[in-house]
Amino acid sequence: MPLLIRRSHAQDELPGGSLGRYPVLDAPSARPDRGVQAAGIRRPALFPVCANPGCTAGWLRLWRSRSAPVFEGGWCCSPECTRAQVGAALGRELGGRTGAPEPHRHRIPLGLEMLEQGWISAAELRAALAAQREAGGGRIGRWLRSQGVSERLITRALGVQWSCPVFAADSCTPESLTGLVPRLFLDAFGALPMRVGAERILYLGFEDRLDPSLALAIERITGLRVECGLVEESSFRRAQELALEARYPPVELVEAVSEAALAGAMTRAIERARPVESRLARVHDCVWLRMALRPQRVAVPSRDAIADLIGSLNGSGRGH
Ligand SMILES: [Zn+2]
Repeated sequence: MPLLIRRSHAQDELPGGSLGRYPVLDAPSARPDRGVQAAGIRRPALFPVCANPGCTAGWLRLWRSRSAPVFEGGWCCSPECTRAQVGAALGRELGGRTGAPEPHRHRIPLGLEMLEQGWISAAELRAALAAQREAGGGRIGRWLRSQGVSERLITRALGVQWSCPVFAADSCTPESLTGLVPRLFLDAFGALPMRVGAERILYLGFEDRLDPSLALAIERITGLRVECGLVEESSFRRAQELALEARYPPVELVEAVSEAALAGAMTRAIERARPVESRLARVHDCVWLRMALRPQRVAVPSRDAIADLIGSLNGSGRGH
C-alpha cells in the first residue's frame, strides 16, 4: 500500500488550526419511523427495520432475519442492503474532497520562534541553519540539537507552534491500547496512543507534527475524544517501539481498483464477521472499516473483540 508510506508528505494534507474545531460526526442510525408504515399497512413494532432506505425486503425476510450485521448503527437485513449502506458511506468518505484542507503553515519558523522566546542564541540558530544548508536539508530541530539545544526546549517550541500541549511519556502504556488504532496507522503517521483518561479522552502523542485527520478518524471510529499533543523525540521513539511490538486486532488490507470493488470487499468482510457494530472513516488516502464483534462496554476494546479492514484505491480510482 504505497499510499501509507507517505509520512513525510502528511503535513501537506493537514488543515491548519486546532483539532478542537472539528465536529465529531454522529454515526447515522436507522430511522425508526421508516418501514413501520409500508404499503399503507402498519407493521407491528416488533419488526426490525432495515437501515437501507432502498430495502425491498418483505415481511417474511424481516421476520426471519438475523440481528447482525450492524453498520453505522443501522441493522442490515441482507447482503444487498449491507452493500448499499457500505457503498453510500464510502461515497460520503471518498467524495467531497474538493475542500482539500490547506497545508499547515506555521507563522514563525521554529528557529525564529525559539530565538524570539530567548531559548536559543542568534549564534546557535545561525550555526544550525548553516549545518542544515551544508547537509542539504533535515529538520531544523535536529540541527539545533546538534548545537547542544535541549530536546525539551525544541519540543516546547513545537508545542507553541502547534498550539498544543507537550505530553510526558513516562506514564504512557501504549501496549494496553492496541485495541484502539491499527498498528499500520501508528507506524505510517507517526502517532502514539498514550492513555485514556477520565471522560473518555484519548491522549494521542506525535513526535514533531500533529495529524488532525488521523485524530478525527479515531474520534469517529472509537467514540473517544482525542486530545493531540507532542512528545519529546527520544521518549516518543522509545514508547512507539514498545507500541509497535505489541499485538493488535487482526487487520485485512485491501487495495481496490474502484470504489465499487472496495465496497464489495468491505461488504464481504462485514457479512463474514457479522459485527454488532461497524464504522467507516477516511484516514488520508485510506478508508478504515472497524468491526466490533461483541458489544463494547469499555473505552478500550480488547484485541479479540475487534476486526479492522483498511482499504485504499489503487491508481485511477479516485485521485487525491
Ligand atoms: Zn434490507
